[in-house]
Amino acid sequence: MINAEIIAVGSELLLGQIVNTNARFLSQQLASLGINVFFHTVVGDNHDRLKTAIEIAENRANMIIFTGGLGPTKDDLTKETIARHIGKELIMDQTALESIELYFKRTNRVMTENNRKQALVLEGSHILPNDHGMAPGMVVDSGSHIYVLLPGPPKEMEPMFLQYGCQALSSKNKSKEKIVSRVLRFFGIGEAALETEIIDIIDSQSNPTIAPLAGDGEVTLRLTAKHVDEAVAQTMLDEVEKTINQRVGEFFYGYDNTSLLAELTKSLKERKLTITAAESLTGGLFQQELTSIAGASSVFKGGIVCYSNEVKQHILQVKPEILEKHGAVSEQCAKELAENAARLLESDIGISFTGVAGPDEVEGKPVGTVYIGIAIKGRPTVVEKMILAGTREANRNRSVKFGCYFILQ
Ligand code: ATP
Ligand code: MG
Repeated sequence: MINAEIIAVGSELLLGQIVNTNARFLSQQLASLGINVFFHTVVGDNHDRLKTAIEIAENRANMIIFTGGLGPTKDDLTKETIARHIGKELIMDQTALESIELYFKRTNRVMTENNRKQALVLEGSHILPNDHGMAPGMVVDSGSHIYVLLPGPPKEMEPMFLQYGCQALSSKNKSKEKIVSRVLRFFGIGEAALETEIIDIIDSQSNPTIAPLAGDGEVTLRLTAKHVDEAVAQTMLDEVEKTINQRVGEFFYGYDNTSLLAELTKSLKERKLTITAAESLTGGLFQQELTSIAGASSVFKGGIVCYSNEVKQHILQVKPEILEKHGAVSEQCAKELAENAARLLESDIGISFTGVAGPDEVEGKPVGTVYIGIAIKGRPTVVEKMILAGTREANRNRSVKFGCYFILQ
């Protein structure tokens, strides 16, 4: 069984200047190769601290994957530190040197002496060519440990790993067990409530495992199954997903990296429906998020930001008596906004958002009061009222998500 540790080398990671996306990418890739990742470490460009990190990793992992510090400058010391630590020489790799020379020629730049340093490799290592930069990657097997050295820049590291690394590492993996995972996304139910509903399923499962995670008003469940046969592992996921959705399926809306807006766009496209929006509370947020999705043009012609009562009355034709009697934050106003927007913009669906985002109350209505109007052609208009408890920003974001959720239902 291979148990891996990923060591990301780079002081800029510790300073918070960049995010460790390499660890995320590698963890996902290793999971699909059936290699366990038990630890992520981040260490600065410092010889002594890197050496300590290697020693710790050697005690708890048999594969150590490094990213970063393979470059030509003085602070790039990953290769040198590992060479010294495992007692291997650094030797000039002719193929790597030629490819670096070629890289300079191709990019019309002058090669400096320290660039030659990038062609130095650990003796006895398996080389992973770098098709998008200079420093080659390496895989070295010391007998007790496998050391994998990868460059830091994701645009070099990721294609190198996919093209050459996967194969080199899967040949080291004797267990052949595949790990597959799937994320189920839920909206309209809190994390605690969802967990309570399915706690017995979570507790009784060890393969697949079920891990809940909450954020941005949504809850996700990551299901992970292990099996030598990937198809069997997928079936295991199907079964546990079915059991979960028998309990909380009404809140489920999609898989993996999707979003409510993406699912809404997909669903409208399939049903050949168009949508428009009249946005007061959300000031265009719904339309902005909708148009950030590729393919939105086939479902969205345009919409109206109606922040003031003048725009609600004169552009969206909300009757003055409604604004006088009930105010802009009201069921009646939300209904007119949704219906009139759909009519004026000749769309099948009109959605409206009106409410009190905060921090101050409006028309004597408390912060967090939200009305969402949904006018769908051929159906009676529905207005949903909610009292949200977040900050101004959270209330606006949450309203957009609720709007999508109501239409999807
Ligand atoms: P170079 O030849 O570019 O110097 P290198 O292998 O020496 O490559 P580093 O110097 O450690 O790599 O990092 C170069 C750049 O790669 C960083 O400035 C950063 O943009 C990116 N990078 C490094 N490590 C990571 C990481 N763990 N996650 C995401 N990006 C990273
Ligand atoms: Mg560098």
